[in-house]
Amino acid sequence: MLSFTHTEQAFPEKRAAGTRAHDFHEISQPFLIAKAEEQASRCSQCGVPFCQVHCPLQNHIPDWLKLAAEGRLREAYELSTSTSTMPEICGRICPQDRLCEGNCVIEQSGHGAVTIGSVEKFITDTAWQEGWVEPLVPLADRSSQSVGIIGAGPAGLTAAELLRVRGYEVHVYDRHDRAGGLLIYGIPGFKLEKEVVERRVQRLVDGGIRFHLNTDIGTDIGFAELRQRHDAVLVATGVYKARPLGLEGAALPGVVKALDYLIASNRVGLGDDVPAFASGELSAEGRDVVVIGGGDTAMDCVRTAVRQGARSVTCLYRRDRANMPGSQREVHNAEEEGVRFEWLAAPASFAAGSSGRVASVKASRMRLGNPDASGRRTPQPEAGQDFTLPADLVIEALGFDPEDLRAAFGEPGLAVTRWGTVKAENERLSTSLTGVFAAGDIVRGASLVVWAIREGRDVAQSMHAWLSTQAKGAQSPTGARKEAA
Ligand SMILES: Cc1cc2nc3c(=O)[nH]c(=O)nc-3n(C[C@H](O)[C@H](O)[C@H](O)COP(=O)(O)OP(=O)(O)OC[C@H]3O[C@@H](n4cnc5c(N)ncnc54)[C@H](O)[C@@H]3O)c2cc1C
Ligand code: SF4
Repeated sequence: MLSFTHTEQAFPEKRAAGTRAHDFHEISQPFLIAKAEEQASRCSQCGVPFCQVHCPLQNHIPDWLKLAAEGRLREAYELSTSTSTMPEICGRICPQDRLCEGNCVIEQSGHGAVTIGSVEKFITDTAWQEGWVEPLVPLADRSSQSVGIIGAGPAGLTAAELLRVRGYEVHVYDRHDRAGGLLIYGIPGFKLEKEVVERRVQRLVDGGIRFHLNTDIGTDIGFAELRQRHDAVLVATGVYKARPLGLEGAALPGVVKALDYLIASNRVGLGDDVPAFASGELSAEGRDVVVIGGGDTAMDCVRTAVRQGARSVTCLYRRDRANMPGSQREVHNAEEEGVRFEWLAAPASFAAGSSGRVASVKASRMRLGNPDASGRRTPQPEAGQDFTLPADLVIEALGFDPEDLRAAFGEPGLAVTRWGTVKAENERLSTSLTGVFAAGDIVRGASLVVWAIREGRDVAQSMHAWLSTQAKGAQSPTGARKEAA
């Protein structure tokens, strides 16, 4: 260990931009075993590991790095999987520069962080290849109690796995036709190949978790009925209401929402027939594309447009590069792939061409003014510096808010915050309704996969405690079972 003094930081090699920009495969080559061991050995084995402190899962990072450096990969995998249900997914898509790697002590000392995410991915990919990933087996029989989980994203899937391990009968409901939430339909394949998600889901299916896909809770099955069916319910529905731009011309054909665009692209990649893609409505091929926004969703849109064969791809963001919310690594990748960034630029209106479809975006040049209440400097328009960009596909990627769950579920008793997220008690993640819990983006607002996994883990523990109390109550002479009530 401590080889950082003489071993340079190395990430897995990226495929050349000119090659990778034509397909949806992941952009990084896998680490070779010697390279992974070498990079793991750069860890300085800190007494207080800040990487672990800043990992939302508090993964035992220095310990599995040491095992990996010693070639004890199976043990490294077992330790890594003891705190995470999806280590190979986090290794691929966590913004490590803001989490574990950003807080690595050798990063602070100027040597470049240990490439923790890449080693984590390597360990668990190896475990899948070598058959070390064990089937999901319940450790007890609690099948007299059942759990209904609304949402098959990382929060719902994590809770489902951990509750199934504890022996409950677990049912997962999702309105989509595939499980995975944003892992399957939001995040593009060049960041996370779909087979990686599908093999995780298959393990859950094989472990006896029952998936009810194409099932919208609130439409196909009422929320009240779901509560009747199950002893406990978890709301893990994510956040899906796109923030509107509300500008002149925003309703023109050719102005589309980021998630509609990404879902269509992911579906095509999965082999589905997508009429809106085939018709060109949700395809960037041959178009001048303008993406509005500076977060990771915007980065995914620009890079998807490049791969679909756009004529030009421009990202408009109203703040500057240093103040954008998206990961700098992703901006760098996008630039390498030919995306043009217009920093300090905000759209003012959209104009139609002769076909009635959007043809151009009028944009205002911005400057950063004084900080607002949140401390961020507010962008303000510079007078007389408007400019126009050709655009026959405009993608709005301004972020997501929660849908109105109380209306969707017909349940006014479900307490929500002023932002519309579900109010869940800090530790237990229980809601205002008895036996109903919540986790993931629907509690935190649009966040990260690793936080959804963390909350899935926490809520499984909390639901288990609650269900155990209910079961004990039912066994006591004075207790009344829910069904009998
Ligand atoms: C384009 C994009 C890129 C992203 N990239 C990254 C990244 O690189 N790294 C990262 O860490 N995070 C990223 N994120 C954020 C991350 O995907 C989310 O934070 C995470 O998926 C939240 O997990 P979740 O389980 O709470 O919700 P989701 O993943 O949103 O899953 C919720 C599920 O609930 C289902 N559902 C909703 N309502 C109902 C209902 N009424 N009935 C039945 N089912 C319902 C939905 O269909 C969905 O499958 C990205 C997000 C987007 C949009
Ligand atoms: S889960 Fe994310 S933050 Fe934690 S060690 Fe892995 S890559 Fe780093």
